[in-house]
Amino acid sequence: MIDSEYLELLRCPHCAPQEAGALVEIRKDWLSCSDCKRNYPIVQCIPVMLPQEGDRWRNTQAADLPVIESHNRFVSVVK
Ligand SMILES: [Zn+2]
Repeated sequence: MIDSEYLELLRCPHCAPQEAGALVEIRKDWLSCSDCKRNYPIVQCIPVMLPQEGDRWRNTQAADLPVIESHNRFVSVVK
């Protein structure tokens, strides 16, 4: 669970220059961009806002995203 005030400050790194890029918490371990539908994992309470993560998980349905466990520091190697 990401603090709502903190979440309001976060923006999708892909969209932020042109679009709002607001993020919503679609699961306790995933954020999703309202504009481009890229998804970003939350690892140990820290959103991993790397463009390659967003690209990898773009348009993936919430139910199909992997469960992020506390030891999954490098999400791209998991799945
Ligand atoms: Zn975006």
